[in-house]
Amino acid sequence: MRKNLKVIAGGIRLIEGLAPGFLPCCVLQACMAALSPFINIYLSAALVNGLLAGWDMARLLEGVLLMAALNLVCGGLGAWMERLVNVKQNVLFQQYDWRLDSKMMELSYQEVESYEVQALRERIRQMANVNGMGLWNLVNPVKALVKSVFTILFAVAIFCEVFGQCGPGTGALTGFFCSAWASAGLAALILGNVCVNLYTVSRSAKKVFAAYAGLVPINQVYSYYLENYIDTYHSGKDIRLYRQGDLIRSEMGQLLEKGRTPMKRLKGIEFRYSGLGSLAGFAMNLSIYLTVGMRALAGLFPVGSIVQYVGGIGQFVSGFTTFAAQITLLNSNVEALEVILQYLGMGKEPQLADAQSMESRSMEPVDAAESLEIEFRGVSFTYPGTEGKALDNLSFAIRPGEKLAVVGVNGSGKTTMIKLLCGLYDPDEGAILVNGRDIRELDGASRRELFGVVFQDFQLFSFGLGQNLAGSRTYDEMRARAALEEAGFGARLEGMDLETSLYKDFDPQGVEISGGEAQKIAIARALYRQAPILILDEPTAALDPQAEYEVYENLNRISENRTAIFISHRMSSCRFCGRILVMDGGRLVQAGSHEELLRDAAGRYFELWHAQEQYYR
Ligand code: ADP
Repeated sequence: MRKNLKVIAGGIRLIEGLAPGFLPCCVLQACMAALSPFINIYLSAALVNGLLAGWDMARLLEGVLLMAALNLVCGGLGAWMERLVNVKQNVLFQQYDWRLDSKMMELSYQEVESYEVQALRERIRQMANVNGMGLWNLVNPVKALVKSVFTILFAVAIFCEVFGQCGPGTGALTGFFCSAWASAGLAALILGNVCVNLYTVSRSAKKVFAAYAGLVPINQVYSYYLENYIDTYHSGKDIRLYRQGDLIRSEMGQLLEKGRTPMKRLKGIEFRYSGLGSLAGFAMNLSIYLTVGMRALAGLFPVGSIVQYVGGIGQFVSGFTTFAAQITLLNSNVEALEVILQYLGMGKEPQLADAQSMESRSMEPVDAAESLEIEFRGVSFTYPGTEGKALDNLSFAIRPGEKLAVVGVNGSGKTTMIKLLCGLYDPDEGAILVNGRDIRELDGASRRELFGVVFQDFQLFSFGLGQNLAGSRTYDEMRARAALEEAGFGARLEGMDLETSLYKDFDPQGVEISGGEAQKIAIARALYRQAPILILDEPTAALDPQAEYEVYENLNRISENRTAIFISHRMSSCRFCGRILVMDGGRLVQAGSHEELLRDAAGRYFELWHAQEQYYR
């Protein structure tokens, strides 16, 4: 209970943080919405009583006008408040979506790549898709709960006097209904009804919630097929050529079938529990009408008050039912809310702030390459959730301005080594030193500014070419052009300018670029940074032989004044580097120049070189 309250309070704080003022507006609007029916109940009773008491026309008209005016004011204010709440609610959910999405940019790469974070995010998405579990199921119940509290208070205010209006009846039957015993019995019946409603509503809401929760995993797999196979044209070729359509159709058909059972259960639950509630309501209403009617007959209060008491009690019971339902909903939603709060509370890496500082940073090249020495000292690393070490006791130094190649078969740990160097992961053991200082002592932005990296799976965005290079709205045109020229994109640049959008997602005039062209732009992006250390991880994998030749022709020039690390499993690409590191199974097994390494006929390099050489002969 205490834990649930804590989580709900956390959710409320989240709402207030995302849309300040939203909750107070909800309270005001709830008050207005709850008040509205009571104006009519109370004033209708007063008018009927007035009629019976022989009010003259003017007084009656006054009463009617007052009722109409109050309805107008209350309705108008209510509508205005509702509009305000809706506007703020839109802001709230917009901010909420943004908070969820921007969280992915705040998290460290290690966290983003981890299964836990991916699973949390997917769960949040699916729970919201199925029946609004999460923030929706906090906002709506809170609104309804506040309204129900006002309804209960207003209702008690207008009907409670009926319990005190006892007296002698005109016969045995009226005598009983006018007695204090009848008042006690009526109070017990109302409370009994409230209890039955509490029970039925909370049980059914719990079961409905559980049934919806059962739909979450089904929906998750269904969405996977939809988003990855059906909705994306990238899969279209494979689906058609390998006739995967039937397989996907049958899998999705089975999922739909599975989803039908919880849906049927849902309808059954709603029917059973609403039936029980109606029976209890019938018994209570009968007793209310009898008691209130008999008391009016006995002259304990005017007939018009029947409307007031019966209406008041009806509102009280329905207010309580809503109250109970919302409490149950809030409780059932705690698990989903907890997942959201856990995700939003995950560790922060101030990358967004860094990005801003990058934009405002001086565009001068960092000319520290000559003095930067990097050392891996006994570095080991295992990916979270995996068994074997991806890097095992790696030790080597990169001299200032050195051109270093790293070779090894797939999975030997080359990319992991780069990820650690760039700070995307931290070593489990050992340290990476820059000029003798542990690289972790550098703040995130300073560390990133050391490197211009092109990974194999680089991403370009559907923005302008210049923006892609700079990673910001503004860019230095001269520098961008120079970087593109250097990366071998110069000829292609002639038909476009730096504002030209890549791809056509947002701009029909955007250009579709080939894999090789994209790779050149990615290299240009790394060059644009003018970082002292250039890292190219399989930089030519998507290039045709001619383009690959051009890049390597250029590499010496490109990496001039910089330390450069080239990763490749194409041995011939690395010959031009002064020193080559050979990795195998996460370990550094050899180091030396091409000629030196080839001399060791028992070495891994010799083996790899000769295995590939036959294809180049
Ligand atoms: P290379 O770049 O030499 O091809 P990697 O550094 O990519 O090798 O991979 C080294 C090892 O780490 C491999 O066994 C690979 O399967 C594993 N690995 C790489 N990335 C991940 C990851 N994100 N999660 C778990 N294991 C990974």
